[in-house]
Amino acid sequence: MEHKWKTIIEPFKIKTVEPLGITTREERLKVIETAHYNLFNIKAEKVLIDLLTDSGTGAMSAAQWGGIMVGDESYAGARSYYNFENEIKSLTGFDEVIPVHQGRAAEKILFGVIGGKGKCIISNSHFDTTRANVEFSGAEAMDFPVKEAMDFDRPAPFKGNADVAAMEKFVKEKGAKNIPLCVMTVTNNSLGGQPVSMGNLKAVQALCQKYGIPLFLDCARFAENAYFIKIREKGYAQCPVREIAQAMFELADGAWMSSKKDALVNMGGFLAMNNKDWSAKARQMLILTEGFSTYGGLAGRDLEAIAIGLREVLDENYLQYRIRSAAYLGEGLLKHGVPIINPPGGHGVYVNARKFLPHIQPRNFPAQALACALYLEGGIRGVEIGTLMFGKRDKNGVYQAAPMELVRLAMPRRVYTQSHIDYVIEVFGYLAKNKKTIKGLDVVEAAPILPHFTAKLRPAK
Ligand SMILES: *Cc1c(COP(=O)(O)O)cnc(C)c1O
Repeated sequence: MEHKWKTIIEPFKIKTVEPLGITTREERLKVIETAHYNLFNIKAEKVLIDLLTDSGTGAMSAAQWGGIMVGDESYAGARSYYNFENEIKSLTGFDEVIPVHQGRAAEKILFGVIGGKGKCIISNSHFDTTRANVEFSGAEAMDFPVKEAMDFDRPAPFKGNADVAAMEKFVKEKGAKNIPLCVMTVTNNSLGGQPVSMGNLKAVQALCQKYGIPLFLDCARFAENAYFIKIREKGYAQCPVREIAQAMFELADGAWMSSKKDALVNMGGFLAMNNKDWSAKARQMLILTEGFSTYGGLAGRDLEAIAIGLREVLDENYLQYRIRSAAYLGEGLLKHGVPIINPPGGHGVYVNARKFLPHIQPRNFPAQALACALYLEGGIRGVEIGTLMFGKRDKNGVYQAAPMELVRLAMPRRVYTQSHIDYVIEVFGYLAKNKKTIKGLDVVEAAPILPHFTAKLRPAK
């Protein structure tokens, strides 16, 4: 966009609209009581602004909807598959392209091929489905984030980076032959949607090359990461984002993607690599669990929409607006004294509930309490990443404080406008003034695995 004007606008106009779920506070109080203070149990139509996730919640473009109509639904060799394959090949440079229904299906297949007991996967940070699939295969998942990643208040440009020295120390101890893969998650979802620099990717690649360890990207948000490199890393300001993305892929031996993020679609994913032995084994698993190799659990129309989305997401006007909108929300919250992971990430803002609500003990779930207050006062849905999600209990059943206590406000792509975000900021302003009235919660009932999805809670006595 022209540099003369400082207002960054949504670079699209709206063709189809959908009403928001408008409710009263009184109604929402009933809704949240019935849902046992668990926002996963609320009907979406009772949510006004839904910031639960940016996964599969984006708006498709007119061009993508056009692609849906011309999608080729042939079982084998569909035209839409070849559009999908060509787009991924030209973006990533990888020869073997395997479609899957979403990111975790790629993970299940890949770690089924290369994981197993005694093996260890190293990463800047595994996303939770990645970790679960590594561990399900019998392997171990080790994270090596940089130290500044846990210093929430102090901004740094690339908090998603890996600590290469710590990684190398571990590789020497464990032995490279027990490490079948290094994964760089771009952007680093688990630690605030923070980007990884090209410099760090190069350093990790050099380490991997030295020890003969293949390097893959978990590239759900590759375009957001590439844009951060353009605006924050020396030497890339003049480089087209598509070329930056291609340079990222060039450092790797393969990648997988949850297309529900930066491919701007509601469902889909892929696994891509050069290793013919791994890809042959992966296709065997694909046929067993997902579908034939030219559709892999997706409809032809989905493949078409992904191919178009992968091109659209690299539009620099879109990325400027996208990164700016998360920053705008973050700045608005900071103005009201709401502590966040600073700087804001690519796909959303993470509120530091431990710091915001010091009067609530970890065992009373400050982040969950804040998420519930946000819904009750404003009809806004975020997600707790804290003591409830991590769910570690001692032998007496008392919840142990998680390392962080966050509420993630994830931003769906191309869905909300600036006034929606102004509203979110205003509600937070109210919560900041009245935070003493926010009370902690007690768990009434919780499952042993992934407790946050189904737990029942009530206001603490
Ligand atoms: C979303 C995500 C996944 C898992 O993808 P699904 O499509 O939800 O199965 C894996 N890694 C990262 C970094 C993600 O953000």
